[in-house]
Amino acid sequence: MEILALSWDKHSISGATIAGSTQAVGFCPLCRISQGEVLAEFQRWKLARTKTMKGHRERLMLFHKDHVKTLDEGSIGEAYLLLMKAGSKFFSYTDKWAIFEPVYATVPDHWHRVASDLDKNAEDHAQILKTPRMIIDNCQGTLSRAYPGDEPVEPAAKSR
Ligand SMILES: [Zn+2]
Repeated sequence: MEILALSWDKHSISGATIAGSTQAVGFCPLCRISQGEVLAEFQRWKLARTKTMKGHRERLMLFHKDHVKTLDEGSIGEAYLLLMKAGSKFFSYTDKWAIFEPVYATVPDHWHRVASDLDKNAEDHAQILKTPRMIIDNCQGTLSRAYPGDEPVEPAAKSR
């Protein structure tokens, strides 16, 4: 598979010393996150707090261990599942939180998803409303999708 080959290739690069790595990986902020910043580690993923909190009490990102830009659907599903699991713990202080589509991602070349609470006083609240997002309701245990310009009303039944 092309994706596997790619991730293997990049892995061997990112595993090398900084001096020997390619420019793309060497300057990638996600590849450079130190182990001390990692909150949780999974087989293929790492969870970390974002560098900029933008006024949120908690703001997380889950990213692939390898410097890959795109992933197959199964991997994306796995990432969302892990982020939802971790988020239910880290965002337990709030009713609702969301996972954002990467339309405003600052590192588009390394697959990741950001999640934060939905604090209306946060610096990026206006941007959040312009970002397609999956909203997780901790109290009701429901998921809903929200798109720019609409209210989060459509519940996406997630029963598997
Ligand atoms: Zn990277």
